[in-house]
Amino acid sequence: MPGGGGQVSVLANTFILGAGLFNYRIEFVSHRRLNGVEWVTPQGEVYRMGSLVQGDDNWYWRDGLGPDATGLLHGLASWAGGMGIVTKISTRLYPLQPQKLEPEGIGSNSHLKLPARVRWYNITFPTEESCRKAMYEIERARIGAIVNRVPAYWRDIAKSHGDLAVRNDFWQRWNQTTPEQVAQSRVLRVMVVGRASQAQLEYEERVLMDIVNEAGGTFRPARQTDEASFLAANAAGMWKATGFFGECDGGIENPKCADKTREIYIRKLQEYEHKSDFLDQKGDSPWYMPFGLGRVYYTELHGWPDCAKVDPDDPQFQPGIVDRILRWRTSEAEKIIMQTGMQGFFLGQVQPMRLTSPANQHYHIWMDRLKKEFDPKELAAPGQPFIPDRLINELYPEAVTDEMREAIKKVEAGPWMGNPE
Ligand SMILES: Cc1cc2nc3c(=O)[nH]c(=O)nc-3n(C[C@H](O)[C@H](O)[C@H](O)COP(=O)(O)OP(=O)(O)OC[C@H]3O[C@@H](n4cnc5c(N)ncnc54)[C@H](O)[C@@H]3O)c2cc1C
Repeated sequence: MPGGGGQVSVLANTFILGAGLFNYRIEFVSHRRLNGVEWVTPQGEVYRMGSLVQGDDNWYWRDGLGPDATGLLHGLASWAGGMGIVTKISTRLYPLQPQKLEPEGIGSNSHLKLPARVRWYNITFPTEESCRKAMYEIERARIGAIVNRVPAYWRDIAKSHGDLAVRNDFWQRWNQTTPEQVAQSRVLRVMVVGRASQAQLEYEERVLMDIVNEAGGTFRPARQTDEASFLAANAAGMWKATGFFGECDGGIENPKCADKTREIYIRKLQEYEHKSDFLDQKGDSPWYMPFGLGRVYYTELHGWPDCAKVDPDDPQFQPGIVDRILRWRTSEAEKIIMQTGMQGFFLGQVQPMRLTSPANQHYHIWMDRLKKEFDPKELAAPGQPFIPDRLINELYPEAVTDEMREAIKKVEAGPWMGNPE
């Protein structure tokens, strides 16, 4: 069930992040779903960890004898190629339902037809608070397989997908939407699955309806097909709404922390002096959802620039925009994650890791020690996971603002992650 879609390698997805919509019902971090790992170090030694310490036939339990060493290869995210090759894993499987998911169509115009025991519900709420209330009740009632609070512009991406005109079509639709409409129509998508039986599905549907009615939500039509959870046919459109991958940062933490992070990001984006550099999200919340039945929340902070404005060969190119985007990503978005205490998962992949490590209990010290121990000749993906640090240091050090450096120092000093409360 990797977040990157059903086409990716389960092993690779596990060792990059392993977070996705289905994490609502299961262990939220792929490390905790691992049973056994066989690992070849950059020096060529072979180690077996977790259940595999008991021998090759032992795939079925979480830990072997002694301390669990799998954490050496995987925290919230992992080494991104910088620590040898994992040759075998055993990971937990979770029951879904027995009916077949049938694909239909070709390429980006394909989808899965959902069987009777899987149903999508689209719901809108008049306020963010009423939506949060319903989410909390859904988690408390332990119903649903996916609970996903999607930004309003994703609806227009979904409607525009499938051909070369996707970008223009999207802008046309989204430009007609007003901030007032967005504010009164917070979108929640819930997938209900009858894991044990059709009767379970029907029970969960009834509970969902009661919760939504009580919170003042409205059910909207929902196509009973899937394009972006089991199969990622429209992932390119979803991740590149404006033709540019607008990922700034993201994290997983408790619900209160995630709420605060989103709140600050919305305000900051609205007050930003170069607001027109990015897609106007019209005051909507960044994408977020509960994992582990609501014990933790996931959120991603997006700033989507129009690809025409960042392309020096395009007539609409805007000098200076790339510098501003890099500063926004590296300093403004990352500063929020650090200050609220979110556990960011893009460090080492998108964000410079060594830079903010002092604000995260200096964990780079351990990474350097482990690297020295297992990869003294730096054979595995040389430079990783510190390549984003190198890119910023060598190509655009101005992306790290003075305020960002101050914020790192403040968080490092404590008392707790810089938060006096
Ligand atoms: C647009 C986009 C959206 C994404 N959304 C999500 C998401 O929602 N959730 C999520 O979890 N991920 C997400 N990802 C990341 C995604 O999980 C990975 O791209 C994908 O799962 C990796 O699978 P792959 O088969 O392409 O592996 P690769 O890209 O080949 O490998 C992924 C990583 O694992 C390492 N690796 C691969 N094989 C091994 C091995 N044998 N031993 C040790 N390390 C290895 C690689 O060095 C690399 O760092 C997204 C990526 C993109 C581009």
